[in-house]
Amino acid sequence: MRPTGSLHIGHYVGALENWVSLQDDYQNFHLIADYHTLTTSLDTTNVYKDSVDMVIDWIACGIDPVKSPIFRQSKVKQHTELHLIFSMLITKNRLEKNPTLKEQIRDLNLQGVSYGHLGYPVLQSADILLYKGNAVPVGEDQVPHVEITRHIAEHFNQAFELNGKKIFPIPEPKITKFARLPGLDGKAKMSKSLGNGILLSDPEDEIKSKMKKAFTDPAKLRKGDPGNPNICLVYLYHQKFNPEEEPEIRNGCTTGTLGCFDCKMKCAGKIAEHFAPAREKRAELEANIGRVVEIMEDGENRARAAAEQTMSEVREAMRFG
Ligand code: SF4
Repeated sequence: MRPTGSLHIGHYVGALENWVSLQDDYQNFHLIADYHTLTTSLDTTNVYKDSVDMVIDWIACGIDPVKSPIFRQSKVKQHTELHLIFSMLITKNRLEKNPTLKEQIRDLNLQGVSYGHLGYPVLQSADILLYKGNAVPVGEDQVPHVEITRHIAEHFNQAFELNGKKIFPIPEPKITKFARLPGLDGKAKMSKSLGNGILLSDPEDEIKSKMKKAFTDPAKLRKGDPGNPNICLVYLYHQKFNPEEEPEIRNGCTTGTLGCFDCKMKCAGKIAEHFAPAREKRAELEANIGRVVEIMEDGENRARAAAEQTMSEVREAMRFG
């Protein structure tokens, strides 16, 4: 994940929750993709602070840094080495067809893309394969990148072997049911820059205040009007954070006995309740930033050891050993 500072509930639903549930069954590696921020901005003023803030949210939401190393990409130089090798294994044409890149060019209104931006799925491939990742927990928008990673791994394995063995696994994407949570304004993506998200660190009052502006069925103007929950964002949030009351909400909405304000406040309360333990843990970590830094340093040492093991195999297979 790129270091974006404090995370929003879209990050939790699209990624973090999935990571937490996977950490008992898999050896996870949690990468702070700080080099990736350069693809869209050269302003690195807050990159360190944002990394620390993001790590706090990860741990607060249940990532166990002892089981699963947490580390900055820029502290493990093997990422850049493998990226260089992988960049020879894919064509420019293939990268230009990447739908996520096209979406970014449109959303950010870019006039052109840098060489590094075009190739960022190649750096992601290095991020995954350096740890011989065989499952990649991603949102739907990242699936094309996993396909590029598979292509690169296959290409490398065809070209090079070590003592008759393939070096890289062919990874699979692992997607959650709620791979993407729309923003409060109804836009497909929740994003900090669009200001349409609820932060994991937001207290209940703030969640309620943001929820007042949430997109609902525009035809339901007042209590008594029947609504259509299927086109209402708040209902989608209820499905995620208040599943036990979902039938009651649906019935109240369609019959008109439930008004949008009450429905929104109930939903905000459930979201606040869901993240209450994380907010408490966050406050503890904020009071002990030294511990967070130690966690990152420990993760960086462990990631570096795993990455060097892979790179020594790669160099030997390629006769650069
Ligand atoms: S009552 Fe609830 S589910 Fe129905 S339109 Fe209003 S906010 Fe949405």
